[in-house]
Amino acid sequence: MNPSELPGRPQIAYRGEALYIEDCAVADLARAHGTPLFAYSTAAMHDALAAYRRGFSGRKLLVCYAMKANSSLAILQYFARQGCGFDIVSGGELVRVLAAGGDPAKVIFSGVGKTRAEMRQALDAGILCFNVESEAELEVLSEVATQCGRQARVSIRVNPNVDPKTHPYISTGLKGNKFGIAHERTLAVYQRAAQLPGLQVAGIDFHIGSQITEATPYLDAIDRLLDLVEQIEAAGIPIKHLDFGGGLGIDYAGDTPPAADALWQELLAKLDARGFGERQFIIEPGRSLIGNAGLCVTEVLYLKPGEAKNFCIVDAAMNDLPRPAMYQAFHAIVPVQQRGGAGATYDVVGPVCESGDWLARERALNVQAGDQLAVLSAGAYCMSMASNYNTRGRAAEVLVDGGTARIIRVRETPDDMLRAERLLD
Ligand SMILES: *Cc1c(COP(=O)(O)O)cnc(C)c1O
Repeated sequence: MNPSELPGRPQIAYRGEALYIEDCAVADLARAHGTPLFAYSTAAMHDALAAYRRGFSGRKLLVCYAMKANSSLAILQYFARQGCGFDIVSGGELVRVLAAGGDPAKVIFSGVGKTRAEMRQALDAGILCFNVESEAELEVLSEVATQCGRQARVSIRVNPNVDPKTHPYISTGLKGNKFGIAHERTLAVYQRAAQLPGLQVAGIDFHIGSQITEATPYLDAIDRLLDLVEQIEAAGIPIKHLDFGGGLGIDYAGDTPPAADALWQELLAKLDARGFGERQFIIEPGRSLIGNAGLCVTEVLYLKPGEAKNFCIVDAAMNDLPRPAMYQAFHAIVPVQQRGGAGATYDVVGPVCESGDWLARERALNVQAGDQLAVLSAGAYCMSMASNYNTRGRAAEVLVDGGTARIIRVRETPDDMLRAERLLD
């Protein structure tokens, strides 16, 4: 590896002492647009998507980008133009897909709590499939579809009861999780789906969790899924598509997730061996398409040395970057301009009035007030989870392509934040 490159993030690298994203100096982006600022690399998104497609070359594959990872309109537009569909989890996300020019016929709708109104909205839009997560939801969907005179294509999300060995908050395929239908119930639920009016069985799916760094749980889940497909089809119910979910991890801190192309080769070998290689496949990656394509630039406001700890107080906070506060997640933080000399060890914290408002702990940094830092791996589950806590406006975003950076979200103003509110008479 070139020492100026940052592992796992080939489009983000130092040139001399200055940090670049593709051919844009990060300091220039911060000067032009202010901080905190999210910047995303188009090339990194392209390469991540290409790796999935290489893994499935010669097969029938639909990539449904799990847009909750980053639902900014221009990001959706990029993936739509690349031919992707979308995995949505709310009616609001469907509105975003349509606003970004996405094809509703490539949308799958996941989530345990779809409302009747959301079902109607998705049926009217003509989505590809509902990924049904409970028997109660199946009954309601049948009712809603019948009422509006439509056919709802359905897939049952199977809970394969495998441990993805990730953080408990982002593990979804174990018996104790709220997601999916138990393996033992699956056949009975398909038989019910086949009888209910307004429903049309289309596929089967699983999604075992997020930030998965081991191939084994995936491979175990696929075996369990194929056992079910055989049973269901033997009962006379054809399954058109197989959906393997998302969840492939990225390198946050020296993590070594399986490479998309290698993992899918292994999976396809299994599918071929059992005679399923020619089916229509769907995958639902989120984090692995966008996570390491993004960074967040923040300015150092104050250094606060102390007896027990040194604090580096920056202008980004838990409302911009919620993952450390929510999951004790690690984000690498690097200087936008490297300095000579020794630094100190800091906790990097934001201005929000919560002790939970930290971005990084015990980091060696050589910084002064006024310097800028880049929080890496900030493409996924950052802006889409951002809030207005402490009445802080959401950050601006730019999409970098080579030497150009296009603003894709302007910084939120106090007026924007107050707009929906009403004073008493
Ligand atoms: C969140 C989610 C995904 C994407 O997960 P990543 O870890 O971001 O790849 C895919 N499918 C479903 C059903 C999800 O809830």
